[in-house]
Amino acid sequence: MADQTRPTTREQCAEADRNDELAVLRDEFALPDGVIYLDGNSLGALPRAAVARAADVVTQEWGTDLIGSWNKNHWFELPLRIGEKIGRIIGGGAGECVATDTTSLNVFKALSAAIAIQQEDVPARRVIVSERENFPTDLYMAEGLIALLDRGYSLRLIDAPEDLADALADDVAVVMITQVNYRTGYLWDLADTTRLVHDAGALAVWDLCHSAGAVPVRVAADGADFAVGCTYKYLNGGPGSPAFIWVAERHLARATTPLSGWWGHKSPFAMSESYTAADGGRRFLVGTQPIISMATMEVGIDLHLSVDEQALRRKSLALTSLFIELVETRLAQHPLTLITPRDEQHRGSHVSFRHPEGFAVMKALIANGVIGDYREPEVLRFGITPMYVGFADVWDAVETLRRVLDDELWRDPEYQLRGAVT
Ligand SMILES: *Cc1c(COP(=O)(O)O)cnc(C)c1O
Repeated sequence: MADQTRPTTREQCAEADRNDELAVLRDEFALPDGVIYLDGNSLGALPRAAVARAADVVTQEWGTDLIGSWNKNHWFELPLRIGEKIGRIIGGGAGECVATDTTSLNVFKALSAAIAIQQEDVPARRVIVSERENFPTDLYMAEGLIALLDRGYSLRLIDAPEDLADALADDVAVVMITQVNYRTGYLWDLADTTRLVHDAGALAVWDLCHSAGAVPVRVAADGADFAVGCTYKYLNGGPGSPAFIWVAERHLARATTPLSGWWGHKSPFAMSESYTAADGGRRFLVGTQPIISMATMEVGIDLHLSVDEQALRRKSLALTSLFIELVETRLAQHPLTLITPRDEQHRGSHVSFRHPEGFAVMKALIANGVIGDYREPEVLRFGITPMYVGFADVWDAVETLRRVLDDELWRDPEYQLRGAVT
């Protein structure tokens, strides 16, 4: 949507919803009345069809078909079948992507595979480059791997995207970057960055947690080496639904994993005494998969495959631009600082503002029906998921934020209390 046509009244927002071809997608989701859900970047909403699928996998497949389901209901093939679908969403080929485990574990697997390849080719390179602002678990997993390897590897953290080029000295083995930053929403150009990394002789491991399903991604065409990501955010897979790991075809034969469990074995049911890795991405499976969760998440993945991702991206940018503009024009007197890029080329699908009383402000907003979330320090984060958020929702959310700030609703002592999960 061009700037001059951006809505400036609630009626114009409602009009934009009426003209939005993607608006019908909202009916595919079960969202409670009276709630504007701006946290799909943390836990995607429930696809209605997932309820029936979950009931079926529990009552029929588990309850009635019992152990026969591994063959009859194709449970054994689920991580590959769904992995192949996720592969299509992120632009990877067949057999290169599997759905399994958590993003944290898949970061460990991707990093160790990349390091093993570099160890053979360029053993003197012992540095992993990442971002200080990366989601902490990615850095924690790298720390754990480095300690386990005990071979002089170290982590070099950059403070800003423009510092990457300088960090790429001839000692760098692997660069691990999260394409969309969880806090600011900064979006890296995957193709340009991967080229920079390769020109410096390193391999690129991409974390797509906030990009899979949020922005169009083409891992293979853009040259990535490895990619991981989760499915419970923009892919609406459900709480704790399995993550994914993708390996470029050129690395598949050499990509090894230290987590050599039986599900990654070439023939698991041969029960042989030693490990032989399966061909393709299957080797990144470790043990028995969480079938109920995996079967349920396929519904969200299928929903995504049915939608035009370019149209989704256009709507996402129209909504995030509208959100930024409304906050900055209608709430101008309040101390809100945008930390998300204005440049659409570098913006994912969420918008974050800092406010000195961010935590209490978010609690008050949630109590008033607008669910976003809070991230340290002082950050109000709003996930704008174009599958089920509309233009009038954005208007109403900003008006609620205005009321919380104008009337100082956040001062209520109740909103200062912190739970275990923020
Ligand atoms: C959400 C997120 C994770 C979550 O990891 P889990 O292992 O699923 O808990 C990891 N990395 C990034 C960049 C994320 O945004």
